[in-house]
Amino acid sequence: MHMQVPGEAEILSLWERGLARHPIDRALLLYAWARPDLPSSSFPDLPLGTINRALLRLRETCFGPRIIACIDCKHCSTRMEVALDTGQLLAATNEDETSSDFKVSPAEFEVSNLRFRVPCSRDLAAVSGERDINAAAVKLLERCCLDRPEKMDEGFANMLSEVEAAMEDLDPAAEINLSLSCEDCGHSWLADFNIGTLLWDEIDVRARALLAEVHSLAQAYGWTEPEIFALSPQRRAAYLDMVGV
Ligand SMILES: [Zn+2]
Repeated sequence: MHMQVPGEAEILSLWERGLARHPIDRALLLYAWARPDLPSSSFPDLPLGTINRALLRLRETCFGPRIIACIDCKHCSTRMEVALDTGQLLAATNEDETSSDFKVSPAEFEVSNLRFRVPCSRDLAAVSGERDINAAAVKLLERCCLDRPEKMDEGFANMLSEVEAAMEDLDPAAEINLSLSCEDCGHSWLADFNIGTLLWDEIDVRARALLAEVHSLAQAYGWTEPEIFALSPQRRAAYLDMVGV
């Protein structure tokens, strides 16, 4: 589906609505922008990969396909610049352009005679307070188990890797991993790539730059925000030049 580019006033509106929210909610806010045709009440129950794929496409629409991610080496802390491409990331997660991106009923699968579904934003939010990564993973598994057996704590811990592999198969964009290798120390590892966080950070930078432009021109000429946004980019740049920004 065709995705609309948010205008400057819309970027500011997204930014002010997302500012105080948790990153999980920010991703859903951006998804709502990307899919105005869909009922937002269902978004927290969508598979995470559905959200991520739409956000990759929104990123491409807003800021282009090329991403430079700054990631610190897990071993020696050297900062690396990793060049990514939204098209490649979509292809790596088995993006099927022809299929509908809106899966209302989350994909289900079976492991050891128990039925599971793939996780959604609601699950992520429910375990986000858990500090222990393993405990969070088991809690997520419990939430995604549709059979809800009694007293399965240990059982869940034992089947963690098998269930996680099945989840990844069914919803490969739920977690985007980058295979990285440090040029300084040679350390290799898998890094999490969170498109929701990246896109939010970029919108934050863009919104603050817009506010600074409005501030300078409003101060110098007394113009209102809508008046400043109505100027062509060339005129605005010329006026900003004259006020010494
Ligand atoms: Zn290193």
